[in-house]
Amino acid sequence: MTASPAFAPTVELHPHPRTRDELGVILANPGFGNYFTDHMFLAKWTPDEGWAYPRIVPYGPLTLDPATAVLHYAQEVFEGLKAYAHADGSIWLFRPEANAERMQRSAHRLALPELPTDWFIGSIKALIEVDAAWVPNGDEKSLYLRPFMFASERFLGVRPSQHVTYGLISSPAGAYFPEGLKPVSIWLSTEYARAGAGGTGAAKCGGNYASSLLPQQEAAAQGCAQVAFLDSTEHKWVEELGGMNLFYVQSDGSIVTPELSGSILEGITRDSLITLARDLGHEVVERRVSIDEWRDGCADGTITEVFACGTAAVVTPIRSLKWEGGEAVPGDGEAGKVTSELRAALVDIQYGRAPDRHGWLQQV
Ligand code: PMP
Repeated sequence: MTASPAFAPTVELHPHPRTRDELGVILANPGFGNYFTDHMFLAKWTPDEGWAYPRIVPYGPLTLDPATAVLHYAQEVFEGLKAYAHADGSIWLFRPEANAERMQRSAHRLALPELPTDWFIGSIKALIEVDAAWVPNGDEKSLYLRPFMFASERFLGVRPSQHVTYGLISSPAGAYFPEGLKPVSIWLSTEYARAGAGGTGAAKCGGNYASSLLPQQEAAAQGCAQVAFLDSTEHKWVEELGGMNLFYVQSDGSIVTPELSGSILEGITRDSLITLARDLGHEVVERRVSIDEWRDGCADGTITEVFACGTAAVVTPIRSLKWEGGEAVPGDGEAGKVTSELRAALVDIQYGRAPDRHGWLQQV
């Protein structure tokens, strides 16, 4: 493979970008994943050229041959991170190199080429430069960034694609759960696993999410916002939710989060909260947590708060874990003190209201 050329995207501006008025309406109430900015970033990879043709183009449909490999074998990975507007109008990314590195690990697992970190961060900065007006101001709003990479070779043999497309789209975001900060209920999936030992659970690839949709439907039918998955071998150990990692606050003030099992996604929010919780004086332990510990801990008061975390939903308190015929509610089921404290510590850094002691922010 030849070395990738220096990052120097071409820019083709949209002939009819959204008007100020249209943008104003969108940014007032963006929801999550509903609207996309006027531009997108694309690049392609081949074994001969490496990463090439970086370009900003008007946002629009991609034309794919029906035999494009990703449509058949799901050789695809993606990322999710946000850009935050600070009070002075400056725009910041939160730990983008951590997302770049995770995408490289995901790509490796899916036999896709690794996108260099400077291309990953460069693509984000280049897109935000042309779509800066789309970064919403105001508490809890942000521009959600969705880098993705897929097998774009037209070929039906089962082998790694020799033509790969990297893309970046972005979408203004309000709260992920329309309920806002209200604690949510979670459905325990006893029939389905999200990922297995040796599988792709630690990679951010579409297949993991496709397999979570049926259990997610079951959860929704039970009035729950997300699914909790257990390990696929013993059906005993708590892994994570369909799109978030889990934390437990114990009555002695210590915090427990399931250790990285190889089939859990290594959340960047999870990692950041471990650091922030320790900064705030909490003991944080990464270890296996059994489903019985979750149930019994809620019943006997050992577990006082449960929360989920991820880029999209930030920190979301969990009101109850439900299963066929029962539920486990920590404390009084309301957002707990430690959950709120950690959420505030994180978003205050992201929105520039607290000092960035760990050097997590990068200006666009
Ligand atoms: N687990 C899964 C399965 C996810 O999809 C996500 C969201 N990326 C997370 C955890 C949280 O990861 P992060 O904090 O990096 O967003």
